[in-house]
Amino acid sequence: MNDDLTRFAPGDPAPVGHERQSMGGDSSWQFLILIAIGNFATLRRHIGREQSALLAEVVAARVTGLFPDAVVRSTSSTQVEIMLLGAERAAVDVHLAVLATALARPFTVAGQPCRIEPVLAAATAMKPHEDDIRLLEEAEQALADAHIECRSVVRDLAVRVDRLDRITLARDLTHAIEHDALFVEYQPKVHVRQQRVCSIEALLRWRHPVHGMISPVEFIPVAEESRIIAPLTLWTMRRVIADQRRLDQAGHPQRIFINISGILLGDPDFVRRACALVRDSDACIGFEITETSVIRDPESAIANLQTFVDMGIALAIDDYGAGLSSLSYLKQLPACELKIDKLFITQLTSSNRDPLIVRSTIDLAHALEMEVVAEGVETPAALALLTVMGCDMVQGYLISRPIGFDALCQFLDEQAHQAVIERATPLSLGRFVAHARA
Ligand code: C2E
Ligand code: CA
Ligand code: CA
Repeated sequence: MNDDLTRFAPGDPAPVGHERQSMGGDSSWQFLILIAIGNFATLRRHIGREQSALLAEVVAARVTGLFPDAVVRSTSSTQVEIMLLGAERAAVDVHLAVLATALARPFTVAGQPCRIEPVLAAATAMKPHEDDIRLLEEAEQALADAHIECRSVVRDLAVRVDRLDRITLARDLTHAIEHDALFVEYQPKVHVRQQRVCSIEALLRWRHPVHGMISPVEFIPVAEESRIIAPLTLWTMRRVIADQRRLDQAGHPQRIFINISGILLGDPDFVRRACALVRDSDACIGFEITETSVIRDPESAIANLQTFVDMGIALAIDDYGAGLSSLSYLKQLPACELKIDKLFITQLTSSNRDPLIVRSTIDLAHALEMEVVAEGVETPAALALLTVMGCDMVQGYLISRPIGFDALCQFLDEQAHQAVIERATPLSLGRFVAHARA
């Protein structure tokens, strides 16, 4: 009776994690699956504290029976971790379905039948990869999403392109554009004083059929080199325009910003097609461009940006501070937003220099009549400090990770940003206020 909790006498030392050290089989993919016992608090009330403390062990024992080659561990009284290898990424979906079925059967606890409500999540990585911590972090984030979305969530660790053949990759990317095999995630920006979501950024995603998730940091340069950045960006614009309309119909008339590569600002054919898309759709969109994107041919780039603005496309200057900055260009760009690079924001409360840079950038942007967005806001302390500094908008994991369209609708319906803003009261500022006022 694997599942019978009464085999552990109350008072016996609790088992220290049920664990099997085996991971045979095909090794192309590594999966880290997390199972959380969603109704743990209810079960504890029902079966008592001592018995409930052993529940995760019992779940681990059943899982071990299902996956003899896996390393299975109960990592807390509410959570079980499974490390598995697989031949292809799709295997993780099969494993999750098998788990959902197996865990739906009742367990026997202290002689009574007892049902758990499992919350399932996984992170996948193509082997070899060197970062077990990131795999765990992705799995934990997937579990947090699964709790919110009430479904299993899988996140993929992106593969490094330097391991892949760039010519084949460019060909695969062309195929992906033609067959709609890309998708977009959305990350909200929140207006600090107005305490509302004020716009949304679209971030492109590509799940390669063989290599799995590839980061845009890796495939955008491939697209630029191989001259497929224009069709790729036009694909993204069509997707975003359609989603912006759906969002509007769902009661959320939000502007969505799209990242535009610098080389496109000197491409008259792209400019013409992009304008046609916006004109035909009447969509409310914006473009994020970097300052350096106008350096190659400032005159025509700035003229093209003005054309976009005249069509109602809002402009944001992205990654400010990360590259070469030139005040003379900054003054000429018809932008309404300046986004301070996350490089300065993620270290904000632990660095002496970054708060000074951020504060002077906020003042500079305001002097140029632009609103300021801080990207990469990860902690309540950073949000509180930025609020004191007069930053207009924030964006980052603290508010929301980039999420799919349905999750975005849910986020906006539930006004989920409000709880985060309320938590970042000036109290969480503590000693950092001194930095801001210095
Ligand atoms: P970006 O425009 O600076 O986008 C912000 C990046 O920071 C995103 O990475 C986002 O997921 C990540 N991020 C957001 N909040 C946080 C946070 O709190 N902490 C940290 N550490 N990171 C955060 P992602 O999605 O991997 O995109 C990377 C870059 O790829 C983007 O940087 C952008 O330059 C480019 N990109 C993405 N989509 C497109 C696209 O459609 N077209 C073009 N040309 N470039 C794109
Ligand atoms: Ca951006
Ligand atoms: Ca950025």
